[in-house]
Amino acid sequence: MIGIPYLEGKYAATMDLYSQQSKEFNRNYKFYEHLREGRLTTTRCRSCGQRMYPPRVMCPYCTSDDLEWVDLPTRGKVLVFVEQYQGVPQGFEAPHILAIIDLQGELRFTTRIVNCKAGELKEGDEVRMVVFPLPPSLVETRNGIEERERVFYAFEPVR
Ligand SMILES: [Zn+2]
Repeated sequence: MIGIPYLEGKYAATMDLYSQQSKEFNRNYKFYEHLREGRLTTTRCRSCGQRMYPPRVMCPYCTSDDLEWVDLPTRGKVLVFVEQYQGVPQGFEAPHILAIIDLQGELRFTTRIVNCKAGELKEGDEVRMVVFPLPPSLVETRNGIEERERVFYAFEPVR
């Protein structure tokens, strides 16, 4: 079972949509540490100034690895969205809402919208980031198998 934890008994880690967040597995683990502080962050290249999302360990524009962490807005507006009622991914509940949002003109990306009933969301709605716990992952270390807490983010309507 090492490395194959089950998420709420619903599906195996091989279908885990969320990557390992521990230092040992992910050089971008600070992204998740920042989420725990309520910050949405990404990396910016100190050499060429380009900012990328999601965060990287190497600049895709100039290949420099001299990157710094920068904060992004945690509020934005819904540009377009889709609500899925049936056939949602295992471990998720309907409606499964995905939206492309604009973070105050700084960035546009696709995110899950939570805490929202079917039919409630409208284009132009203001949304804010919410950070929520995920089932922990199991990590094998020198001391044996440890459970590591994990978090991820989504956005919810501001009401
Ligand atoms: Zn660069």
